[in-house]
Parts: sequence; C-alpha cells; structure tokens
Amino acid sequence: MIDSNTRLIALLGDPVAHSVSPAMQNAAFAAAGLNFVYLAFPVPAAAVSGAVAGLRGLGIRGANITIPHKTAVMPFLDRIDDQARRIGAVNVILNDGGRLTGCNTDAPGFLAALKCSGFEPSGKKAVVIGAGGAARAVVFALRGAGASVAIVNRTRETAASLAADTGAAALPMTDAGFSEALAGASLVVNATSIGLSPDIEATPLPAKFLRQGLVVFDIVYRPQQTRLLRDAEAAGCQTIGGLEMLVEQGALAFELWAGQPAPRDVMSGAAAGALA
Ligand code: NDP
Repeated sequence: MIDSNTRLIALLGDPVAHSVSPAMQNAAFAAAGLNFVYLAFPVPAAAVSGAVAGLRGLGIRGANITIPHKTAVMPFLDRIDDQARRIGAVNVILNDGGRLTGCNTDAPGFLAALKCSGFEPSGKKAVVIGAGGAARAVVFALRGAGASVAIVNRTRETAASLAADTGAAALPMTDAGFSEALAGASLVVNATSIGLSPDIEATPLPAKFLRQGLVVFDIVYRPQQTRLLRDAEAAGCQTIGGLEMLVEQGALAFELWAGQPAPRDVMSGAAAGALA
C-alpha cells in the first residue's frame, strides 16, 4: 500500500513509455515486502539538472537513468563510482541523505548474465559488435574480466575510440573485418540495436560466420528471440538473450537501493511478462 512511508525510485529518460523496468522493479519490491514504488518520468535534455536536483530535494531514494541521459547526469552528481567513471555512463543513482552517487550496473549485469550461462571470459577472445553506450559497458566488462576484445562497428571512428579507451582492437563491419575478428574467438556479443523490434529480421552478423563452439550473446531483448539468436541456435552455438542482462542490471540496482538481495526469478518473470 502506498502511504507516507513509501520510498520512491524514479526512472529518468526520454522516452520511457516502452520501459519494462517499472513492471520488473515494482514486482520485485512487492515480492520482497518493501514499501517502495518505481515510477517512470520522461525528462527532456533541458530538464536533466532540474530532475537530479528534484531527487535530492525530495529525498527520493534512487533512480535509473536511461537513454539519452546516462552521460548527461554525471556533472550533477556528488560522486561517481570508479566503474561508472571509467565507462563514462551512469545508469543508477543512489541517494544517501542528499548525497547522490552515480553507478553503472550495465557492465556487471552483462558479466553476471554471461557467467550465469557458464562462460568464463578470462583469457578468451570476444567479438563485440557495436560501439554505442551499451557496447561501452560490455567492452569494459569483458576487458576487466580478462578477455581480449575485437570491436566491429559500422562507424569506424567510434569503434577506434572505444578500442583506444579499453585496449581492444577495432575492425570494420565487413566480411573481412568479421573474419579477422572471429579468428580464435569464443564469444560474440551483439551490442548494436540491429534486430530490435520492429526490424526483427535484421541481423548484425551474417549466418555464415556462426559455427559450433561459439557462444552468442544478443543484448537486444525486444524480441527475446532475435534473428541472430535463431541463426546461432541453428548453427549449434550456445545462446544468451538480452533479458538475462536486463534482469541482472536491474537486480544489482535493486540491491543498491534496498540493501538486500533481489528476487531475480520474480524480476525475470515480470520483465518477460511486460515484454510479451
Ligand atoms: P546506441 O544508440 O548508443 O548505439 C547503437 C549501436 O548500434 C551503435 O554501435 C550503432 O552503430 C549500431 N547500429 C544501429 N543501427 C545500425 C545499423 N543499421 N547498422 C549498423 N550498426 C547500427 O544504443 P545503446 O548502445 O544504448 O543500445 C544498443 C542496444 O542494446 C539497444 O537495442 C538496447 O535496447 C540494448 N540494450 C540492452 C540492455 C540489456 O540490459 N539487455 C541494456 C542496454 C541496452 P554506429 O556507431 O555506426 O551508429
């Protein structure tokens, strides 16, 4: 029941109407018996500093930050944790008595989902397709976990810049680029928005490059079964879907706000329900 003790968690982004986080987090708070509520707020770019001041002024316990504000919020926070600073993006804010700390749970969320599937990245070679915001978190996570990484992206400058920041290699998004990137690789991650609904027949990687023994992780979660994952399964690859990362990054955020373990099964069911 919402009462005068209810604590608020806010989602700040633009747009936010499509987000499954309210369904996922509210189900988690209810299952954990916590008097918390999670609400989405569409925040235009010009209102970001005011929205962050509002978190502080109203004593709102925390927030998720989503596209396009993950970098824009950073100057308005009191502290940025090391991981978020290295990545250059904040997706979670924690408010402790008016002191706002920015964190990044996309990177550890990706890594937890990967390790949950039984893949240990240390000493392995990974190919990351994409060099946008999500790809940054994925590449930092993989490099931090001891993997070597080849980045393949449509825009070469963005790939080169991410590669320079992380000690990865950058290759063009061509057949020759994919061939070179995939030589000796055991993991491929799609961190582009290719395959995202409604363009569900698009795939970032031609099926001819898929072979048994590769683990294929598609962080796109709408649809849950992307064309890339279908092609990968047909080629005998192990596959991991974006829902796993979505739930893990949300569970880690829940644990920061609530200070207790997140009910991951409940969150997964609620997110899958909201996506369906
Ligand atoms: P960005 O806009 O920051 O980056 C988009 C990336 O996709 C860029 O690398 C871009 O390449 C590439 N891209 C887009 N369209 C094309 C195309 N037609 N051809 C080739 N490359 C293309 O988005 P994000 O990084 O924030 O998000 C990417 C995806 O990850 C989204 O689908 C999002 O939903 C998903 N995501 C999933 C999460 C999860 O928890 N599972 C968490 C966060 C994101 P270029 O540089 O050339 O423009």
